[in-house]
Amino acid sequence: MSLYKKNSLKLYNSLSKEKEVFTPINEGSVGMYVCGPTVYSNVHLGNVRTFMSFDLVFRYLKHLGYKVRYVRNITDAGHLENDADVGEDRIAKKARIEEIEPMEVVQRYTVDFHQILQKFNNLPPSIEPTATGHIVEQLEIIKDILDKGMAYVVNGSVYFDVLKYNESEEYGILSGRNIEDSIHNTRALDGQSEKKNPQDFALWKKASPEHIMRWPSPWSDGFPGWHLECTAMSTKYLGEKFDIHGGGMDLKFPHHECEIAQANCSNGTDPVNYWMHANMLTLNGQKMAKSTGNNILPGEIFSGDNNVLDKPFSPSVTRFFMLQAHYRSNLDFSSAALEASEKGYNKLFQGLTVLEGLRTSKSTSVDIEKWVQSCYDAMNDDFNSPILIANLFEGVKFIHLINDGKETISKEDLERFGSVLKSFVFDVLGLVDEATEDNSEKLSGTVELLIKLRKEARDDKNWALSDQIRDELLALGIQLKDGKEGTSFTVN
Ligand code: AMP
Ligand code: ZN
Repeated sequence: MSLYKKNSLKLYNSLSKEKEVFTPINEGSVGMYVCGPTVYSNVHLGNVRTFMSFDLVFRYLKHLGYKVRYVRNITDAGHLENDADVGEDRIAKKARIEEIEPMEVVQRYTVDFHQILQKFNNLPPSIEPTATGHIVEQLEIIKDILDKGMAYVVNGSVYFDVLKYNESEEYGILSGRNIEDSIHNTRALDGQSEKKNPQDFALWKKASPEHIMRWPSPWSDGFPGWHLECTAMSTKYLGEKFDIHGGGMDLKFPHHECEIAQANCSNGTDPVNYWMHANMLTLNGQKMAKSTGNNILPGEIFSGDNNVLDKPFSPSVTRFFMLQAHYRSNLDFSSAALEASEKGYNKLFQGLTVLEGLRTSKSTSVDIEKWVQSCYDAMNDDFNSPILIANLFEGVKFIHLINDGKETISKEDLERFGSVLKSFVFDVLGLVDEATEDNSEKLSGTVELLIKLRKEARDDKNWALSDQIRDELLALGIQLKDGKEGTSFTVN
């Protein structure tokens, strides 16, 4: 029986503002969309936190046996500097400053994004579509919204008519912003705006003559508004209604609010059953952000080359630090907090080493099943990773008590306990044992050296030495294989 049938997963729905039992649209399958990065600069640790929060969700859903289609886009066009549809396109601006093509900017920072997330052992999504790869789909949605009378064209740009939409639907349901208040409190943009109302948002922007990233459309050569790509790509890959939509807290308004309006208008249905929002990583109490410079890059953490930390920290320790906070809590980044996490991380992995050498008894004196259930209960309660980690430390306590002969465990229970503990550490939390990783690099370096020495022995016709190297490695479980390309090895 699949684990999801035995577990009642509850998640906090930002729309209802309540924890709800998770029931996917199609039994056994989950469709999840998460807003990806705008690839115009290096990802900072704040961005990483949001993607890691959804990596945890992805991993746990998979662990429960769901077939998950996880779609996370790359925003490679259309994201202006200011949410009010003014300012330059972020990618075009970077390209202008660096005197390179916009697509060079996109390529550079997409590669950086992938490399960094991989360092933190985040799983890749199932589909990673780009905004520029879905212009046709976006144009179709704009035409549809115009046909329905919910958008208007001004000087080659198309805007969504929020006030008109609000007559029949509720704009602001996710963020709780009241449109009437917003009308009274928003200043018109000095009469410079083409919009009928400041609340309206762009579906299509006419490109200025120097703007390189442009596509033909019935209204002008231009580019899509930022919010539209997510509606186009989520509909295409997950359908008009899907299970989970995620993103950072700061995307609730206007981005996700606009997604809801677009989808409601174009598809005639609310797009998402469960909205999930991850909270912010702060530095010195302020949100980490590209724009303010109040941020730290992952590479600066690993190298120790920064003004914040007293020493370098590894990707897995940094991951552990972030997972020690619940995804909906604020988390402040500091040297003291990372040092505490490093101690915890070492304690956990030392426990796993001791686990390997535990002796078994005829009976078990600790309640393994109760402990297993406490781990699942933590994750079933809106992915509560800090409580899960506290339970894993309880498990480490058992390990030491059993090792010291103060508690006992049977062979069968040890297998169950070890396998649950490891699957939570490695599969669900996505931690890696850096000591083992380090050792495996050292092992392959050592074997390569012996292969080189054996070749030199063979070149000297010193067959006794070359056979000795081969045989003694074999006795250690390392088999050398001579081929046309040279000698390779396998470890058994
Ligand atoms: P961007 O590339 O700016 O669109 O951001 C990518 C993702 O990172 C979005 O989901 C943001 O909500 C998220 N994000 C930005 N800053 C932070 C932060 N300080 N803490 C957590 N997530 C953040
Ligand atoms: Zn989005």
